[in-house]
Amino acid sequence: MEQKKIILFGGTFDPPHNGHMTLLAGAIAAVQPDLVIVEPAGTPPHKRAGETAAQHRVAMCECFRALFNELIVDDTEIRREGKSYTIDTVRTMNERYPDAQLYFPMGSDMLLWFHNWVAYEELLRRLVIVAHVRAGEDAAPMHAFADTLRAEGGRVIFTDAPVLPLSSTEVRGKIARGEPVDALVPESVAAYIAEHGLYG
Ligand code: ATP
Repeated sequence: MEQKKIILFGGTFDPPHNGHMTLLAGAIAAVQPDLVIVEPAGTPPHKRAGETAAQHRVAMCECFRALFNELIVDDTEIRREGKSYTIDTVRTMNERYPDAQLYFPMGSDMLLWFHNWVAYEELLRRLVIVAHVRAGEDAAPMHAFADTLRAEGGRVIFTDAPVLPLSSTEVRGKIARGEPVDALVPESVAAYIAEHGLYG
């Protein structure tokens, strides 16, 4: 039997936006997974004040279901006490799904920072990185860095979906200034933000 493929998509998702949607859609097209696990980050101690309640971020992550039906919004990191590292979640998922290969989509900002991740060498053994270059970005440094990770035994694949130059920070800023964000986030997220008066 072929090994099961699981996409583990971690992020703060405060809020999820169309850049996240394109990243995940590209990863799904590239990987053809059996399951997608969305993992909203726990609240880091230094970010606690002013942070959007985890329950709202989890609810908004339901937008990703439009991309793939076999999808779990998992709360492992949110329920964990103290600071949460990707390696802890990856170990948990390897225990929970011992026969599956994990694929981890990430934007270029995250990829280039990878050597600073806690236990990155173990992460390289446990994950296939699905890297995404944002539109307008120079892809060459990303490919060079991927080669460095490969030389260390890592596995990196690139998706070729276009990615929007967009961040959650920008979305929160626009809402705070009273500007519309309907073009930047999925419809369900825009409706949720309006209903709960988030980021105002
Ligand atoms: P913030 O602005 O609050 O820092 P963010 O928009 O960068 O947030 P995160 O939730 O921190 O979003 O990101 C989760 C994952 O999505 C990361 O791997 C990040 O690189 C990726 N990502 C974020 N924005 C985009 C985008 N526009 N295109 C592709 N990937 C993205």
